[in-house]
Amino acid sequence: MAYDFDLFVIGAGSGGVRAARFAAGFGARVAVAESRYLGGTCVNVGCVPKKLLVYGAHFAEDFELAQDFGWSAAQSNFDWPTLIANKNREIQRLNGIYRNLLVNSGVTLLEGHARLLGPQQVEINGQRYSAERILIATGGWPQIPDIPGKELAISSNEAFFLEQLPKRVLVVGGGYIAVEFASIFHGLGAATSLLYRGELFLRGFDGAVRRHLKEELGRKGLDLQFNSDIERIERQADGSLLATLQDGRQLTTDCVFYATGRRPMLDGLGLESTGVELDDKGFIRVNEHYESSEPSILAIGDVIGRVQLTPVALAEGMAVARRLFRPQEYRPVDYRHIPTAVFSLPNIATVGLSEEQAREAGHRLKIFESRFRPMKLTLGATQERTLMKLVVDADSDRVLGCHMVGPEAGEIIQGLAVALKAGATKQLFDETLGVHPTAAEEFVTMR
Ligand code: FAD
Ligand code: NDP
Repeated sequence: MAYDFDLFVIGAGSGGVRAARFAAGFGARVAVAESRYLGGTCVNVGCVPKKLLVYGAHFAEDFELAQDFGWSAAQSNFDWPTLIANKNREIQRLNGIYRNLLVNSGVTLLEGHARLLGPQQVEINGQRYSAERILIATGGWPQIPDIPGKELAISSNEAFFLEQLPKRVLVVGGGYIAVEFASIFHGLGAATSLLYRGELFLRGFDGAVRRHLKEELGRKGLDLQFNSDIERIERQADGSLLATLQDGRQLTTDCVFYATGRRPMLDGLGLESTGVELDDKGFIRVNEHYESSEPSILAIGDVIGRVQLTPVALAEGMAVARRLFRPQEYRPVDYRHIPTAVFSLPNIATVGLSEEQAREAGHRLKIFESRFRPMKLTLGATQERTLMKLVVDADSDRVLGCHMVGPEAGEIIQGLAVALKAGATKQLFDETLGVHPTAAEEFVTMR
């Protein structure tokens, strides 16, 4: 049977664009459907605009620090609409780059909402297309718990387009987005509280990292409220919001920002016309080759709910393109050493196992930890400290995990991810010469 396309990709986000471009480059006839924005979450309402806002928020500390280096205090005023307008301009530029990338690689770009009509049939803008294989890369969507007044709350999607910076913000959640946006709002001058339902935020990260970040954020004046959750939200006569907590306390704020995880984006996708099965959390269930229970339909990225990070979606997209159309170059994705950063202020970055995970896996451990004031801060009054930690297997001497809280942690951990993937031992770290004077050298001088 002749199909319109060899591969029909639904979703032009991180994973979909990567799979489509490379599949087309390998000679396949590829279409990609996109309903909202080219580049997906990461480019439009995720990694990229978030990092720009983090840069924006950091200036507050830089201006203060500059005085300790002899610069006289200039009047510093922050204008949120300017930051948002400049951010929007940059995102528009990136949208154009994504369009060119797709078109220049020979992919047919179809802009509109795609709906499955069957295992090998898709409808978009009233047109039907057949494809030998369909790749679902539709990503995720913020999930807000069903509490009274939830419609008064915003998620990260809206935060990027607020017309004004709220004076007071209540951030709910204890994951990546909550911690990053609490830092952004606080850094830009909003009186910010972070409410998390558990004992300590960033569940799954190394305990020392979580405690260290708690101390540092507290030191900067961010109001952290753990073991707290909202029961309901109401609008008050003066326009402000009143959040009633489960313990009966009430907080008045101008913005309630929920960052309580993301669900798979399957709205109106027509999965019911296929045999695609979901897992118990509602994500698309796939095997190690990203094949769903419907043989012609594959899925990658946030919609399969494995690891919701852009480099992971990119790697999965690449793996699918290669396995289908360039099998001699196929390599499965290695999920073992995924480096990751939380762009809080200060940043967290980590690769490999936390101390808790390593102990649970039965390793006998040697732990190396260092806390110090970064040199850049030594002329000033700030007491901010950097944390570095190595988790080492005592029997094999292999470094199992590297963790950092401090400026540029993400930049520093990337190189260490290569070392961990290569199976580096602590001895190898010790024999590596430092770059002096840097914070990064501490990773090779801890004894
Ligand atoms: P997406 O990028 O979400 O793309 C899915 C695309 O499919 C979307 O463009 C959507 O419009 C489209 N679509 C959905 N349904 C249809 C349909 N029926 N028809 C047509 N098109 C459809 N990750 C990092 O690694 N680093 C970070 O710093 C980082 N920061 C983040 C910050 C925020 C606020 C958020 C929300 C996420 C962040 N992430 C970060 C996660 C990262 O953005 C995602 O893991 C990544 O975008 C997933 O890629 P994807 O291809 O699976 O889906
Ligand atoms: P996360 O899954 O990271 O965190 C969700 C948080 O919300 C957890 O603290 C969770 O608590 C809490 N939570 C969940 N449900 C409820 C509820 N009903 N009531 C109260 N609290 C609740 O999700 P995010 O939304 O922060 O981010 C989604 C994903 O996007 C991240 O996991 C990450 O993969 C990716 N991302 C990556 C970034 C990066 O690389 N820098 C930045 C931003 C996002 P508990 O721990 O108790 O379950």
